[in-house]
Amino acid sequence: MPSGQTHDRITLWSLPAVTGLTLAVTRSSNLALIVSGGFLFSGLMFSPDLDLRSRPFKRWGWLRWIWIPYQKVMRHRSFFSHGLLIGTTLRVLYLAVCFLLLGVFIVGIIQLFRDIAWSWQGLEREVRRSLFEHRVEWIALFAGLELGALSHSFSDWLGSTYKRFKRKGLRELQPQKVKPKKPRRKSGRVKRRNSQ
Ligand SMILES: [Zn+2]
Repeated sequence: MPSGQTHDRITLWSLPAVTGLTLAVTRSSNLALIVSGGFLFSGLMFSPDLDLRSRPFKRWGWLRWIWIPYQKVMRHRSFFSHGLLIGTTLRVLYLAVCFLLLGVFIVGIIQLFRDIAWSWQGLEREVRRSLFEHRVEWIALFAGLELGALSHSFSDWLGSTYKRFKRKGLRELQPQKVKPKKPRRKSGRVKRRNSQ
């Protein structure tokens, strides 16, 4: 599979194409900016390779520990980190839960010293309102994140196919002909049973 540096290059080189295509499809510079931002963030920091100690993992700086439990659960290149849609969806949910827990912890500490108004219902209402009011923007962001993950998984697949090709030649890439299996001694056994 390609190195972290190659993945970074692929992200940076394909960014203008992603921006141009989104602009052509949506005719909105706002949405093109969100999709491109999501794509760039996905490629550099939110990549499927967060399932191991990779460049995207290190880029989280002092917050990188957030991803350690994720790495413990995910096998590298598993369907749940590199799979279509499921990889991005699980990472988004995972990050949302982490930020929520972190937020609750920080609010708890602040409340020890100052009395601030805080309620679960208030937060839930705010989140739902934002998700609904800015649904197009949220969908655009998710599309950008998914595009970044897709380009990663595709280049992983391309890299390993190329390596296999170099090792075993063209024949390895062609669909293998399945030889018809010779019938085993089953018929003999039947015969013997019949003769008894
Ligand atoms: Zn990967």
